[in-house]
Amino acid sequence: ATPAATMVGTTIGAQHGVLFKGGDVLERAKDVDTVVFDKTGTLTEGEMELTDVVAFGDDGGTLPDGGTVAERGDSAADEGSAVGDGAEARGDEVLRLAASAERGSEHPLARAIVEGAESRGLDLSDPEEFENVPGHGVRATVDGDEVLVGNRKLLRDAGVDAAAAAETMERLEREGKTAMLVARVPAGADEGELLGVVADADTVKPSAERAVGQLRERGVDVMMITGDNERTARAVAEQVGIDPDNVRAGVLPEDKSDAVEAIQADGRRAMMVGDGVNDAPALAVAYVGTAIGSGTDVAIEAADVTLMRDDPLDVVKAIRVSDATLQKIK
Ligand code: ADP
Ligand code: MG
Repeated sequence: ATPAATMVGTTIGAQHGVLFKGGDVLERAKDVDTVVFDKTGTLTEGEMELTDVVAFGDDGGTLPDGGTVAERGDSAADEGSAVGDGAEARGDEVLRLAASAERGSEHPLARAIVEGAESRGLDLSDPEEFENVPGHGVRATVDGDEVLVGNRKLLRDAGVDAAAAAETMERLEREGKTAMLVARVPAGADEGELLGVVADADTVKPSAERAVGQLRERGVDVMMITGDNERTARAVAEQVGIDPDNVRAGVLPEDKSDAVEAIQADGRRAMMVGDGVNDAPALAVAYVGTAIGSGTDVAIEAADVTLMRDDPLDVVKAIRVSDATLQKIK
């Protein structure tokens, strides 16, 4: 494109909140044939809310799933559920321990757990020896015991049997929620015990489905990549119209860029759209890296395009502006 056309395209983009980092990317965007969306914070609002707390019996987790379940309704803020006092107290203790451990984490999943516990008036402890296990969860010492909150792998690595939670986990995940196991390894004990499950839910952005639809109409393949588990990821993909086969789930933060490279290995030109620190390397290797404006500075720095509004439809706009700019100057 001529410098004048580039300037016009860049200006039109900016008027729509689509910031191109230079003329090259403005030219490249029209050739994108695959858009890879990060899930959390990109297709979804990224504002997690605690939705469920389930406590298992405290006799080693051997009770069948659902045996002594203290379960809350749809919203953690719901008070006065129909659950008995004993079960409710156990649920509160699971949540209190989980939230105390998560106090050390900045992760949206962690913040939702802490906020959910605080809104219930639970008295949290300060975690000691907090450890963040990226892509898996947290481990922290709470009231002298080690507490684990995270996915199946986190517990497996700690040698805690989570079989009793399998059904509960699957049910919550099918609802599109992120379910996390809570376990405790008492001081001095060599075996940990499963305490329960907590779940957070996120809402899909209102325009996500339309954005996916418009991209597909243009013949652009739409994919999703997430560190979240397969079942939750597929439930969200279904809500926005992404083919389940196009979901890459359980991708560790450090593996996101490899996943994008794998997608591009057969010559595809992928636009990666993300918001998090996690996404920066993937944005950098993509044919076009696009950051959501409300995302982290690291993501914005690594990206070629920044969408100032949090609207997935602006992904379509970015491609259209590129298209229009280059057609006009021909
Ligand atoms: P995403 O790509 O969706 O941002 P992450 O890669 O950060 O997800 O995390 C992947 C999974 O690891 C989460 O779905 C969750 O099961 C677990 N996890 C990560 N951080 C935490 C945390 N602070 N507390 C509990 N679980 C966590
Ligand atoms: Mg994200």
